[in-house]
Amino acid sequence: MSSANENPAPVSAALFARARAVTPGGVNSPVRAFRAVGGTPRFMVSGRGPYLTDADGREYVDLVCSWGPMILGHAHPAVQEAVQQAVARGTSFGTPGAGEVELAEEIVSRIAPVEQVRLVSSGTEATMSAIRLARGFTGRAKIVKFAGCYHGHVDALLAAAGSGLATFALPDTPGVTGASAADTIVLPYNDLAAVESAFAVHGDEIACVITEAAPGNMGVVTPRPGFNAGLKELCERHGALFVSDEVMTGFRVSKAGWFGIEGVVPDLLTFGKVMGGGFPAAAFGGRSDVMAHLAPLGPVYQAGTLSGNPVATAAGVTTLRHCTDAVYRHLDRVSLALRTEVSAALGKEGVAHTVSTAGNMFSIFFTDQPVHDYDQARTQDAFRFSAFFHAMLDAGVYLPPSAYEAWFLSAAHDDAAVNRILDALPAAARAAASAQEN
Ligand code: PLP
Repeated sequence: MSSANENPAPVSAALFARARAVTPGGVNSPVRAFRAVGGTPRFMVSGRGPYLTDADGREYVDLVCSWGPMILGHAHPAVQEAVQQAVARGTSFGTPGAGEVELAEEIVSRIAPVEQVRLVSSGTEATMSAIRLARGFTGRAKIVKFAGCYHGHVDALLAAAGSGLATFALPDTPGVTGASAADTIVLPYNDLAAVESAFAVHGDEIACVITEAAPGNMGVVTPRPGFNAGLKELCERHGALFVSDEVMTGFRVSKAGWFGIEGVVPDLLTFGKVMGGGFPAAAFGGRSDVMAHLAPLGPVYQAGTLSGNPVATAAGVTTLRHCTDAVYRHLDRVSLALRTEVSAALGKEGVAHTVSTAGNMFSIFFTDQPVHDYDQARTQDAFRFSAFFHAMLDAGVYLPPSAYEAWFLSAAHDDAAVNRILDALPAAARAAASAQEN
């Protein structure tokens, strides 16, 4: 195993040095910096199918998949073709376009509770806009979110927000004023009694409850049976909206996301990642009577220069159309095989761990205790994950560089790719077993 002090990636290291001179921490999104696991972040230069190649010419099986979007694998021929054709027609018009209609129709046809949808450019924008709409629709200020759920870097939602913050153990988020977080009620995940109590006190002030449909940002945590249904019921009873954040789960865990698995009907849903096919496209949608409050129909303002960008919508529509039932069967099968083997390898070395799943999304917590919420997630031995991560990296497997992230698969993860992962497991499990806390 390489330690954080060795330099197994000289070209990446040189790029990282240049990057740090001109970009805070050398990265444009914090978790990419490897701060949680140590060592040099790999600068990737190309991707094909399930593989990434870094600037030093080393190939990795990719279990990050751009944090979810690359569900068909990298450089999928049909997506590339659609993007090239779109680029050839021009890259942004600032007018309505056919691609936006097609992407909206694709989303509405897949997810019954989405009667109307508005396209935006990032998951952050989607949740920010959904919250504003919920407040505008209900005329109420407060929102409920759950500790460990991440909904993008929206000021009001950056309280106890999971992975990035768990990874860096930021005690707080400077820059978010007390005023912008004052209307946010943060509750423990999977705890319906806490939600009932919050409604008992603030019932007529709560605009919405927002939750990850199935959390993947404190590691994957399975919603307890009845939790989402209970949230929906409480929202209904108190005149609040139930907002299900499917940015991560949407179009990934099934054709209709977590809704397709569980069937609880939200008032609003948010999407991102897969629906952009590797480009910046995201969305929020739901009940048409609620969506009708958005400008230009209604008074709640929301807009975007590049919203519904023609290149992004071409990538998104093509990606969604290729997400067939066979793709989801494949993801389910590979996910099961992989997590079973990871667990067996860790078990063989006596490493305490818990495999946590939400459909085909999964993560490994380095604890033998069940994980139902953020506090429990944080009891894991994250230092064992760091050792495991580096051993996998050295063997050519690119895992999320944090113990608090989901592992992502693609339709392109074939037997050859999976076998490379399996081959790397025994040494990585030994590394986890012998890791010492600093
Ligand atoms: N919501 C969830 C559940 C997410 O996982 C993320 C990103 O990881 C977001 C929202 C924010 O999306 P974006 O990074 O596109 O702003």
